[in-house]
Amino acid sequence: MAEAARKIIIIGSGCAGLTAALYAARAGLPPLLIEGIAAGGPAGGQLVLTGEVENYPGFPKGILGPDLMQAMREQAARFGSEFFIGDVTRIDLGKRPFVIEGQGIDRFEFRAEALILATGARPRKLGLVGEREPPEGMWGRGVTACATCDGAFFKGEDVAVLGGGDTAMEEATYLSHLCRTVTVIHRREEFRASKILLARARRCANIAWQVPFTVEEILGDSEQLVRGVRLRQVQTGAAQELSCKALFLGIGHEPNSDLLKGQLALDPNDHVLVGHRAGQTAATATSVAGVFAAGDLADSVYRQAVTAAGTGCQAAIDAERFLRR
Ligand code: NAP
Repeated sequence: MAEAARKIIIIGSGCAGLTAALYAARAGLPPLLIEGIAAGGPAGGQLVLTGEVENYPGFPKGILGPDLMQAMREQAARFGSEFFIGDVTRIDLGKRPFVIEGQGIDRFEFRAEALILATGARPRKLGLVGEREPPEGMWGRGVTACATCDGAFFKGEDVAVLGGGDTAMEEATYLSHLCRTVTVIHRREEFRASKILLARARRCANIAWQVPFTVEEILGDSEQLVRGVRLRQVQTGAAQELSCKALFLGIGHEPNSDLLKGQLALDPNDHVLVGHRAGQTAATATSVAGVFAAGDLADSVYRQAVTAAGTGCQAAIDAERFLRR
């Protein structure tokens, strides 16, 4: 027999989900928080794949991303949040209580009076064959989106980083301390990265800059490891090869909203619409009454740890008010 509907279920264990859990639990509505195994990324969200976080308020000397997430998790648990590990495979928002199904050690089904979606975002890819998992592509064998996870495999080697934003600058700077050379490839001459991160990368003597260039193909050797990339100069169209052992993608993120398509309002880039953009007064309310969204899933603009935490807090308060009404 299916268990009774929960008051609040939170899907996602990044900054947004854990902050929502802390606030819901302290408001006397201890939630069930479902943390994925593989679906949208690691438990703990994107920050567990980061090194030093320098801009989370309260940590003047910085804090390691995994340590920050562990602290948030402990704080949410302290007030009674319950954690469940499993990948959600179906969400039914058709009527309340909402149904959440998935696969953990066993198949599971939960029902919730109010739902907080905080499934975050995943790294964007270019759509090249080389980005696919082996045997077709070289994902995880030199093609990756996480310098702190995979950088150590390329110690003393030549590597490339694609992108002109903060992620690309952080990855390039991190890799410059491990690798022989790092080539940043970016499609424009202007960089959208913040001044401080761009300046820091520019100061690294072993970072080279290829702008404006796009990556057309990831080249592999006979062992199916990366041996280079084929680049195209954006203005002239001229092609050239760059020899490297790894390509780190830093070209942004896509929201993990696949399970929600057709069930609530999304923007053209598949972020969940909330607040007035969803026709609601509460800041995190989606177009479906009782369903709230927080963090990168609903944010195409700020995408910071602290804003994700902030909207997680709002979502818990909005959900609590909805349930008490
Ligand atoms: P982003 O700011 O969206 O930058 C993505 C970069 O990739 C842009 O330079 C973009 O080029 C390029 N790009 C996108 N699609 C591409 C394609 N198909 N081919 C080639 N290049 C492509 O993403 P992000 O760097 O991951 O940053 C996301 C958010 O997180 C930002 O708000 C950022 O401030 C934040 N963040 C903050 C920190 C920090 O504060 N320490 C660290 C990491 C991220 P164009 O510029 O030409 O569009």
